Amino acid sequence: MNKLIFEKHVPNSNAFSLPPGMIPEGDIQESIPEQFLRRAAAALPEISEVEAVRHFTELSTRAYGVDSGFYPLGSCTMKYNPKINEWAARIPGFAGLHPYQPEATVQGALQLYYEMQEMLAEITGMDAFSLQPAAGAHGEMAGVMIIKAYHMNRQDQPRTKMMVPDSAHGTNPATANVVGYDVIEVKSNERGLVDLDDLRAKMSDEIAGLMLTNPNTLGLFEEEIKEIAAIVHEGGGLLYYDGANLNGVIGVARPGDMGFDVIHVNLHKTFGTPHGGGGPGSGPVGVKARLQEFLPTPVAVKNGDSYGLDYNRPLSIGKLKNFYGNFGVIVKAYAYIKSLGADGLKEACEHAVLNANYLRHRLRESYNIPLDRICKHEFIANSRKQAEPNGISTLNIAKRLIDYGYHPPTIYFPLIVSEAIMIEPTETESKARLDDFVQVMKDIAREAVEAPELLLNAPQQTAIKRVDEVTAARKPVLKWGDH
Ligand SMILES: *Cc1c(COP(=O)(O)O)cnc(C)c1O
Repeated sequence: MNKLIFEKHVPNSNAFSLPPGMIPEGDIQESIPEQFLRRAAAALPEISEVEAVRHFTELSTRAYGVDSGFYPLGSCTMKYNPKINEWAARIPGFAGLHPYQPEATVQGALQLYYEMQEMLAEITGMDAFSLQPAAGAHGEMAGVMIIKAYHMNRQDQPRTKMMVPDSAHGTNPATANVVGYDVIEVKSNERGLVDLDDLRAKMSDEIAGLMLTNPNTLGLFEEEIKEIAAIVHEGGGLLYYDGANLNGVIGVARPGDMGFDVIHVNLHKTFGTPHGGGGPGSGPVGVKARLQEFLPTPVAVKNGDSYGLDYNRPLSIGKLKNFYGNFGVIVKAYAYIKSLGADGLKEACEHAVLNANYLRHRLRESYNIPLDRICKHEFIANSRKQAEPNGISTLNIAKRLIDYGYHPPTIYFPLIVSEAIMIEPTETESKARLDDFVQVMKDIAREAVEAPELLLNAPQQTAIKRVDEVTAARKPVLKWGDH
């Protein structure tokens, strides 16, 4: 256990040997410049095939994912990834496509691509979509570039600022900045929603738009969204919808109907495809009709009975990703939508909201819930009750959850709630699972009073115990020995 692969080195053991004569002597050496020629063998571990397989299999059992347990990571929608989606993405006709194949030979793929654009438009109340962006943040960048292109095209140019609420995800101000806007922060009121007075005061003809998440990062629906949209639009700005929290309203309310002009959705959140390490993401960007011509290319089009990719869009912000974007992810999300149908999507939303409210209700006795009212798909607790008398912080609670075999929720976000614990159970968890999680959270609350050292020293049941987070971040050790 815990040995690095270098430490498993057994001289002269071999996982694979090339047939003799496969590497022609001489030729290669002659083509490599003298200074790059290796003089001595590389210090790589020598290890047999079976030991290499065991090594990586053992490592894989240390990774925690939605397939190994409950993963209540707020703002991330870590829902179960239905296996039928993986089957669909592996169909040879999709998996084996070459991106340079002529359109006539990939009509099925283009039909799926086109229908996906149409379905996302219908689900979100927008008019057109591009499936190019590779992640939520990438979709945000596309969306904000579209906003910029729109103002430039109208020669409405002193608009140099983008408004972002103080509850926003960090990618929102970062995106605005990358696209060249100064960020103007809009305050939240005591109910955790956009402060309309502050919004009105900050709206001006220098403002390009407002980026908003609804439900917001506190899991709360922006009840005055119509008024917010009116303020931004009357001031000549556009409204951007960060679709990361779409799971909280999908099938029930549509951003397009709320007044949003540009939107991204995260297929790896709302539409059940794996996140990050489990596969690449996808962040399609959608717009209302008047912004259609700025969408990134290509956009799938239908001509009669055939499908094609349209690159000829002179006002487009351009191409953001190679070929089709992350096509396999799009196939998985397509399978997700088709297998649930309209009713199923609505039901998924309702169960996500029910599960979050159930947890909020059952945890409120043991944990402080700063904005304790009906939420959407996630809610915020914190460690205020545990801070006294033993100085237990949110970090300690999160670490202790690991000992119980649970992935901790998102912590210390959003920034406007101190010591935040952001819990998003998702619709795919059963009541039995939620009850078990509640029991563990209650046990931890009790330990915080009776045996605080269990929290302060957690985790103890893992391969790597409590780490010094600051040193780990500032001085990471990323290599072995002197190699
Ligand atoms: C996850 C998230 C993003 C960024 O999406 P990625 O796909 O991780 O790039 C943006 N905003 C919010 C609110 C999010 O939760």
